[in-house]
Amino acid sequence: MPAAEPLPPFAAVVATVERVERVSPSFVRITLGGAELRDVGNPDRTLDQRIKLVFPGPTGRVARIPREAPDWYGAWLEIPESDRGTMRTYSIRRIDIDASGATRLIIDFVLHLAEGATGPASLWASRAAEGDALTVVAPRRGRHDAGGIEFAPGGAERIVLAGDETAAPAIARILEELPRNAAGTAFIEVPEAGDRLGIDAPPGIDVRWLVRERGDGIVLVHGEALIPEVLAHVGERSLPPIVDDPAAETLVWETPQYSESGEVAETRPNTHDRYFWIAGESGVVTTLRRHLVRDHGIERAQVAFMGYWRRGVAMKG
Ligand SMILES: Cc1cc2nc3c(=O)[nH]c(=O)nc-3n(C[C@H](O)[C@H](O)[C@H](O)COP(=O)(O)OP(=O)(O)OC[C@H]3O[C@@H](n4cnc5c(N)ncnc54)[C@H](O)[C@@H]3O)c2cc1C
Repeated sequence: MPAAEPLPPFAAVVATVERVERVSPSFVRITLGGAELRDVGNPDRTLDQRIKLVFPGPTGRVARIPREAPDWYGAWLEIPESDRGTMRTYSIRRIDIDASGATRLIIDFVLHLAEGATGPASLWASRAAEGDALTVVAPRRGRHDAGGIEFAPGGAERIVLAGDETAAPAIARILEELPRNAAGTAFIEVPEAGDRLGIDAPPGIDVRWLVRERGDGIVLVHGEALIPEVLAHVGERSLPPIVDDPAAETLVWETPQYSESGEVAETRPNTHDRYFWIAGESGVVTTLRRHLVRDHGIERAQVAFMGYWRRGVAMKG
């Protein structure tokens, strides 16, 4: 008998909304459940694992990607456009598995609902109700070869995490999985003071919430609170303008293993004492990248810079 083909590392499953909690002014926390979730997610090591969510389009039909499709993305594209829905990337705030094996994925969605600056994912989250269904593409349970985890501190003694509200769920997950003796700083920029959500971080990690709404009628733009704090942390006092190239439609993505600008992958592990993980609005991340790499000599092996979204640009999946 021919050997069975190994299952692909990702599985596309259908999940349903079990609970919707408006946990803060800008975040809605959605608990997804359903029998098919038993097949996905690795609660022992989630970190900043990225997953894909497919939100139903106007027909309301859920995109059914064959579970064992070796190329789930190609299989999704074969679904007629009217039923394909919209795909976006999210992080896993938490995976809960109960004694019976029933699995729940908890996702924190940022609600960006301003006219002209909202999108299908945020709208879906703002209207989600118990029983709503969507497709989740995530690593198959027990498979650690699926990719999508970028956090790789190597032997670094100090960790620096920095990001905006879209990166807050990944930062929170990383902090809750770090060894309890981990040391470092996490900078998290959020729209409002009420968005400072609870994180069970190791005591040696200084978690600094940076709030854009200053309370005196002043609202900072994305990155205006984060960039100076991160640069001050490495000893820089100048305040650079945020890189905002309106023509840049792609997200910056520079990790030791991957560079969207085509640099050769870093094969050496990080042997530096510090490790930086930076994610959020792409122009903000690019600004930090320029300064940390150019002015402070932070090396490729010790940093991951990831644009999670781009001001004025709708994502394509
Ligand atoms: C690896 C990864 C992990 C992510 N994890 C999370 C997560 O856990 N939670 C989360 O909420 N997001 C997360 N994001 C970001 C999320 O994918 C984007 O914000 C996405 O654009 C949302 O899709 P949308 O359909 O709402 O908006 P889109 O249709 O993509 O965009 C429509 C408009 O909304 C603007 N926009 C998009 N996001 C924001 C925002 N946050 N604030 C203001 N304007 C915005 C765009 O610039 C555009 O003008 C992650 C992204 C990546 C790459």
